[in-house]
Amino acid sequence: MARYVFITGGVVSSLGKGLASAALGALLQARGYSVRLRKLDPYLNVDPGTMSPFEHGEVFVTDDGAETDLDLGHYERFTGVAARRTDSISSGRIYSNVLEKERRGDYLGKTIQVIPHVTNEIKNFLHIGEEETDFMLCEIGGTVGDIEGLPFFEAIRQFGQDKPRGQCIYMHLTLLPFIAASGELKTKPTQHSVKELRAIGIAPDVLVCRSEMPIPPKEREKLALFCNVRPEAVIAAQDLASIYEAPLAYHAEGLDQAVLDAFMISPAPKPNLAKWEDVIDRIHNPEGEVKVAIVGKYTQLEDAYKSIAEALTHGGIANRVKVRAEWIDSELFENDDDIPPLLEGFHAILVPGGFGERGTEGMVHAARFARTRKVPYMGICLGMQLAVIEASRDLLGLADAGSEEFDHDAGERRFTPVIYHLKEWLEGNRTIKREVTDDKGGTMRLGAYDAILSEGSQAAEIYGSTAISERHRHRYEVDIAYREKLEGCGLHFSGLSPDGRLPEIVEIPGHPWYIGVQFHPELKSKPFAPHPLFADFIRAALEQSRLV
Ligand code: GLN
Repeated sequence: MARYVFITGGVVSSLGKGLASAALGALLQARGYSVRLRKLDPYLNVDPGTMSPFEHGEVFVTDDGAETDLDLGHYERFTGVAARRTDSISSGRIYSNVLEKERRGDYLGKTIQVIPHVTNEIKNFLHIGEEETDFMLCEIGGTVGDIEGLPFFEAIRQFGQDKPRGQCIYMHLTLLPFIAASGELKTKPTQHSVKELRAIGIAPDVLVCRSEMPIPPKEREKLALFCNVRPEAVIAAQDLASIYEAPLAYHAEGLDQAVLDAFMISPAPKPNLAKWEDVIDRIHNPEGEVKVAIVGKYTQLEDAYKSIAEALTHGGIANRVKVRAEWIDSELFENDDDIPPLLEGFHAILVPGGFGERGTEGMVHAARFARTRKVPYMGICLGMQLAVIEASRDLLGLADAGSEEFDHDAGERRFTPVIYHLKEWLEGNRTIKREVTDDKGGTMRLGAYDAILSEGSQAAEIYGSTAISERHRHRYEVDIAYREKLEGCGLHFSGLSPDGRLPEIVEIPGHPWYIGVQFHPELKSKPFAPHPLFADFIRAALEQSRLV
């Protein structure tokens, strides 16, 4: 039966709770335990799938097709455990479940209340899969004291009571601000935050404190005394040059030991951290550097493409080089002539996923630049669709080639659609049907789908296999009807859905590296297991850097 660690935050948001949870997961694994990580988000959206990337950063898609919080990406990157639909929940989902049950009459005429109905629904969710894993790490989004977070805090308090003693612990993450004038780290905000937590009945066992410097013994003792935790359970979390230092840094601070102590696990199994030492060695001692341009539309907020940034870093780890990624707003490329000065000097170009027409002409121009100048190009999802549009316009002579998506946005037909709205497809043996008028939430082609790669293609060589499975999140597809014509002009369709109807990968034989993929390979890359496409893309970038 799983032991539970509940991870909460206080003082301010964005302290790296997700990262601390992920690093703790990695450390428990290093000691031989199995782990599963979970995120409970207090917002009212049913899932983040309908939120703009500017609101919420990237939407992380699981194999089983859930659109989840980007913290699940951290969890997967640090533990290698594939997240599931049941690892992410929001108030919106909880309330919609409760209201559905109420309408069905499941509550047998009772008055439906936050306690116990909403809290029970949260607890039911927490129980899922508890027999399969040694440790369940559950992170509560937001900070203690937020109105919408209250049912979650109440639920995890009750959960600890329901379980036998010693099966649940609480870890609280706060900030120790440094006041330059007095040269001190201040503990008061943390004291207040813990007071707030205790007022709702939760006493933290472990305190993780973000601070710019090591916590001096005096402050550590003060925190232990006022917050009622052991001094060894006050863990300093300093800023790190790379997020992948987190497991080693937290281990050095004693986080995993403090957690095992709180569960009274003694003697604690010795950790094996060789995997993380190797990752850090590769990050700290690169043998070169490559510059990659990411030409997209949500470039003001790096979190919008979190997994891509990380997967590029992993590609660097695989090749022992530093990857310098620069985000370029594609709207700067409306005009063909503006491209060369902006894209000159990069060793590779990546066009990521996106929605809507804005910025797409610039991305088409970037794809053309990469194709004609023989610069390595990776197109992901929308980036693949735009590579096909570019080839249709320039190689096939279909000057008005475009995507139905852009015509839908504009409400008029301006393009010949080489990319169309998919209305029906196979998921395993099940046929899924969609209409343009469907709800926006959860209706895309989502999650893991198989693809078959053509023998001898560059893609098959990179994967070392002709059968792959990758995660999807899109509504539109490249029209297979254009396959023959485009292949005749040099754009090879090297990956297809098993029924041969949906193009999954395109590539240009003879180009150093020009690959578009309909799926999101970045979601499955890990620092200790870089995704083959990213590893090879960075290898090609490195070769390019030797040419220029
Ligand atoms: N907007 C495109 C589609 O829905 C691409 C989606 C994406 O890049 N994730 O098909």
